[in-house]
Amino acid sequence: MADEQYSIYDEVEIEDMTFDETLQIYHYPCPCGDRFEIALVDLADGQDIAVCPSCSLMIRVIFDAVGFQNMNKGGILPHELEELTHAQDNLPKPKDASAAPVEVAA
Ligand SMILES: [Zn+2]
Repeated sequence: MADEQYSIYDEVEIEDMTFDETLQIYHYPCPCGDRFEIALVDLADGQDIAVCPSCSLMIRVIFDAVGFQNMNKGGILPHELEELTHAQDNLPKPKDASAAPVEVAA
């Protein structure tokens, strides 16, 4: 008897999956024409199995659970963190930040 609880079709790195910001899920094309889906909250919860709702195939999502959870605690997704880092690199540093007046809207 097989001791495996799941029948894993494939293993996919999370960078190869597509993130849907509206639905907050990662998805990946399934051979049946539908797609594997796993919710962001499931990943943050330590789950790594994405399921295709049409054919019930499953894939294992490969990701850095520790790093992912740390980043998720701050509400920042890995790709967002990357963008933030690049954005800061591109931002011109204010020359007179200390002297800038703080305007209060009336
Ligand atoms: Zn499928």
